[in-house]
Amino acid sequence: MASPKSKDRRSVKRISSAASGNGAAAPARRRPRSLYSAAEVREIFRRFSVQRPEPKGELEHVNPFTLLVAVVLSAQATDAGVNKATRALFKVADTPQKMLALGEAKLGDYIRTIGLWRNKAKNVIALSEALIRGHGGKVPDDRDELVKLPGVGRKTANVVLNMAFGQHTMAVDTHIFRIGNRIGLAPGKTPEQVEQGLLAIIPDEYLRHAHHWLILHGRYVCKARKPECRICVIADLCKYPGKTNDIPAPLVPIGADGPVPAVAP
Ligand code: SF4
Repeated sequence: MASPKSKDRRSVKRISSAASGNGAAAPARRRPRSLYSAAEVREIFRRFSVQRPEPKGELEHVNPFTLLVAVVLSAQATDAGVNKATRALFKVADTPQKMLALGEAKLGDYIRTIGLWRNKAKNVIALSEALIRGHGGKVPDDRDELVKLPGVGRKTANVVLNMAFGQHTMAVDTHIFRIGNRIGLAPGKTPEQVEQGLLAIIPDEYLRHAHHWLILHGRYVCKARKPECRICVIADLCKYPGKTNDIPAPLVPIGADGPVPAVAP
């Protein structure tokens, strides 16, 4: 998981002291508060919802099991690279039983273009066994059970719970962690702090898709090195001191998961 950039750290500090009032030090374990009012948070997500009414994840899958495998394989790899490997794999192994029958060596042949593939192959076989042994071959819709599976952490569990079961989870990846801190939406030193901060402020009606909206906003607009404030639909609301524009881009529906079209200079 990438760390926030130095500017982002500065903005977190600023938020912490603002939250404490009169410059007094905040209690040690107090979570920095969002810089945004409830009305501003609602407006941010309303705009994201107009822009992408039905956002989709980019990992290809055909059922909860293949989604789980794809997310496990995607650690430190690109979605496109994972999709390239899993298209053929899921044709022959789309259930835990078939994955087990395929075996670790043959699974390795399918995924060896993905980083850390040896370890991931071991985990996928072990989690297939665990699903058969403990869950009748089904992916559980419970975070505590999911994180007991080999190779499955909190983020992976949250992606599966959200995408396969429609639960209101927030899987904090590098993009969401950066946005939460950079613009002061939900500052936190750890992904879990950012996760809890976002879950606390995002209105219920937007929680189903919020994690996808934030990922796509981070991937295509509020990028790590140089945020593209010129094409940002929340540029007027954004409180990042380093933003380069405060006129929001036109709010028009675009593709479910594609880049934001460029606007004229
Ligand atoms: S205005 Fe710039 S910094 Fe703020 S959210 Fe948009 S892209 Fe990110």
